[in-house]
Amino acid sequence: MPTVETVRGPISDDALGITYMHEHIFTMSADMQLNYPQEWGDEEARISDAVKKLTALAGSGVRTIVDPTVVGLGRYIPRIARIAELVPQLNIVVATGCYTYNDVPFFFHHRGPALNEALGMELPDPMVDLFIGDIQDGIAGTGVKAGMLKCAIDTPGLTRGVERVMRAVAQAHVATGTPITVHTHPESEQGLVAAKLLDDEGVDPRRVVLGHSGDSTDLDHLSDLATRGFWLGMDRFGINLATTFEARADTVIGMCARGFAGSMVLSHDASCYIDWIDPNLMPMLPDWHYLHLMNDVIPYLKDHGVTEEQLHTMLVDNPRKILSGN
Ligand SMILES: [Zn+2]
Repeated sequence: MPTVETVRGPISDDALGITYMHEHIFTMSADMQLNYPQEWGDEEARISDAVKKLTALAGSGVRTIVDPTVVGLGRYIPRIARIAELVPQLNIVVATGCYTYNDVPFFFHHRGPALNEALGMELPDPMVDLFIGDIQDGIAGTGVKAGMLKCAIDTPGLTRGVERVMRAVAQAHVATGTPITVHTHPESEQGLVAAKLLDDEGVDPRRVVLGHSGDSTDLDHLSDLATRGFWLGMDRFGINLATTFEARADTVIGMCARGFAGSMVLSHDASCYIDWIDPNLMPMLPDWHYLHLMNDVIPYLKDHGVTEEQLHTMLVDNPRKILSGN
């Protein structure tokens, strides 16, 4: 029986159940939090708030979330491990990788391939072994193993830093078989750029989620990516600033009608706490929470012809295939 790594240890892939493939718990600027902890406030209050929200999420029928919070997003596994013990009815799959739209973190500036030119030789990227260690040995001494790899490409495109991270993620994937999720910017068709590089590194598209695909309403572009074998992350339900609830939902409905239910996964990209946004602005995003799919989106999809079978495919079967590789 194929197993999937979660915060509480490996589980059988048939125990994953309804799975949201892209939900953060805490999204934080680690350096800022170390120095300006006022907004975060009381650690215990933040943990009980997260436990409450994740308990409600599990109460809505969701059995598993993938938390793609990696370096650059303030990953801190001891806190997540504590929360996982307090919400035993929810499986949490954590990730390794690096989140940047531009440069690599300064830590990597004078390591590995950055030294190729000066030394006149090809050096391996230390990121690869760090990611593999997170997958095989566990993260930062916690014993919690990563079940997903994560990188990003946004409007700046394939910068040197983005390319370095994406190649390191691809190489860690080839070494371990752990699936990849890529933050993409579908309006500028960055999925195609990622597709080319991942192909160059020998990655099978069927092991890759192109995250935030649901930000686009271009069904032809999305169909092209799905036909190549990629998974489409329709994973920002509730972020209705540049788009609307209906536009996001109608894109899923349109893709189901084209026969692509077997290529999509659903999620919110929500957090219990994110320090990227002035808390006073959060009321502008009233639907951006863990329950929006179950409360609002899925009823709308059903009303517009998406079948129970298609929903099961997107919520259960597709995540299981991605996470187990089966
Ligand atoms: Zn995210």
